[in-house]
Amino acid sequence: NKQVLAKDYINGNPKATDMYLKSSTISLQLPPDTSNAVLVKNLYLSCDPYMRGTKKRDSRLFYSFSPDSPIIGYGVCKVVDSTHPGFNRGDLVWGVTKWEEYTVITITDSLFKIEHTDIPLSYYTGILGMPGMTAYAGLYEIGVPKKGDHVFVSSAVGAVGQLAGQLAKLMGCYVVGSAGSKEKVEILKNKFDFDGAFNYKEEHDFNAVLKRYFPEGIDIYFENVGGDMLEAALLNMKRRGRIVVAGMISQYELDEPQGIKNLVNIVYKQIKIEAFTVYDYYHLYPKFLETILPYIREGKVTYIEDTDEGLESGPAALERLFTGQNAGKQVIVVAQE
Ligand code: NDP
Repeated sequence: NKQVLAKDYINGNPKATDMYLKSSTISLQLPPDTSNAVLVKNLYLSCDPYMRGTKKRDSRLFYSFSPDSPIIGYGVCKVVDSTHPGFNRGDLVWGVTKWEEYTVITITDSLFKIEHTDIPLSYYTGILGMPGMTAYAGLYEIGVPKKGDHVFVSSAVGAVGQLAGQLAKLMGCYVVGSAGSKEKVEILKNKFDFDGAFNYKEEHDFNAVLKRYFPEGIDIYFENVGGDMLEAALLNMKRRGRIVVAGMISQYELDEPQGIKNLVNIVYKQIKIEAFTVYDYYHLYPKFLETILPYIREGKVTYIEDTDEGLESGPAALERLFTGQNAGKQVIVVAQE
């Protein structure tokens, strides 16, 4: 069983050198005395921004890095053996697994059975999995978009941002996205059909650029990055605008997260600002699938993945996520079904 293990707990963003590879043998049958467990073959593994160290205890459900333990993260897997009444050999599932070829999963409440296999299985690490649910829950439950709303999405080519923006477009909203390269801006304009897009790394005055794209102001800011972009968005929100805080990736690495000096605008303009965790919205997963599957099948949403082959490519792929070198959902292909 090939594995990717953490050398130690980590502080801050992960580097490829924080991980190492190891192989060992395991039985492909669960011991008869185990109950409510599944043994899975990992097919696709997901790189996500929560897979990083932390200096303080926080409310996350799990930590990806523990010394000499396989990295923990989301994946798409096939059940090889099961002592759980809800899962059978041959079932395809997505949920929390480990960075190795085979994993025994004992905490099965975050495992979802994959019923729709006409869609590429890797999509369940992204658009049909946790990041897709994040986009859906954030946009609809917190942003509450209406036709004609003006929507701004940061980190808009990412796994979450690309769906949030496209769902807003499908609602008849005007949508502008920011991303960190010329190529990503082209993707936003040409592949996702956003009304506007800009490379934040080439802009020095975010306030001016948002004023240019939103002369009448922003109704919904789908926030993925925090920091200076949030400062500028606060200056450009409309009265009763909504800021949907999925994440703030620019802040995670900082010892002292940036203070936000334009916060008083939430009072002046009665802005709603709300952070959320996708874990609180998984009960909406069936409803989410009902919405999103037809959009994918009919080609109404486009989905972009950045794929690497082989478990050994995982450490470098995870590092790239935090420097923006991924374009689209970062996935590792571990095995064929
Ligand atoms: P992405 O696929 O968007 O990957 C991360 C991207 O973030 C990079 O490609 C890069 O794009 C951008 N980035 C990296 N560092 C910085 C920085 N310092 N400043 C600005 N941008 C940066 O990730 P996801 O779509 O999976 O996640 C998007 C956000 O959603 C994250 O903040 C994440 O924490 C959050 N999230 C929240 C969840 C929840 O339950 N609330 C669940 C899942 C994700 P670029 O080239 O544009 O810089």
